[in-house]
Amino acid sequence: MQDTQLLRYSRHIFLDEIDIAGQEKLEQVTVLIIGCGGLGNACAPILAASGIGHIILCDDDVIEMSNLQRQFAFTSKDIGQSKAEILAQYLAERNDSIKITVFKKRISQEFFLTTLINCDIVIDCTDNSKSRHLINKFSVRTKTPLISASVIQFSGQLMVFDLRQAYAPCYACLFLKTSDNLSCSENGVFSPLVHIIGAAQASEVIKMICGFGQSALGKVIQFEGLNFSSYQFKIEKDFDCSVCNH
Ligand SMILES: [Zn+2]
Repeated sequence: MQDTQLLRYSRHIFLDEIDIAGQEKLEQVTVLIIGCGGLGNACAPILAASGIGHIILCDDDVIEMSNLQRQFAFTSKDIGQSKAEILAQYLAERNDSIKITVFKKRISQEFFLTTLINCDIVIDCTDNSKSRHLINKFSVRTKTPLISASVIQFSGQLMVFDLRQAYAPCYACLFLKTSDNLSCSENGVFSPLVHIIGAAQASEVIKMICGFGQSALGKVIQFEGLNFSSYQFKIEKDFDCSVCNH
């Protein structure tokens, strides 16, 4: 590792849990972030600044005025532009030593089969149940660890799935396809909450790659922004699940 890199990442390298070995692991991984809205805006800059070697950003959406309350990589002059592209520029300005790839397309089977297979971790930063189930389906198929989250009003959820482990549950073991139809555009979302949960997703990524701490693996971490409290419960594997048991 070069001197400039040692200096840039020194506050992480000082941590015994990361050290130079952990920092080098971060540089070697590819992380796919699907969704460049609130959670993506919170999560991606932390991962870029922390030195994740390759970040792939995927979103077919464009920036709107109503995004600016919580999506800080965007300004009013970016309205109408690609979220993935502007977020990529924001990340590159903050760390030019990492690789960033942009996909401005809607997620598809072809996308997963060509892209997900080459990723170490996928982060679900989407805002709807349909996308979450699709991402889950393909991450189960490729056995790619999935850091999933959702935010609505003052409540957030964080979940980590890793089908490389025996008897591990998947997202579909917990949520039926018909559940979770609330949207931020119709119900609102508290700006600080998006950043707390997005930062928690980034934290889970770094911990998983470097192998320290206790992860949210196989659990739901429920966070309530109204009283700054959280609780967690275990996700039971559904042995009749149509996605992970076949
Ligand atoms: Zn399942």
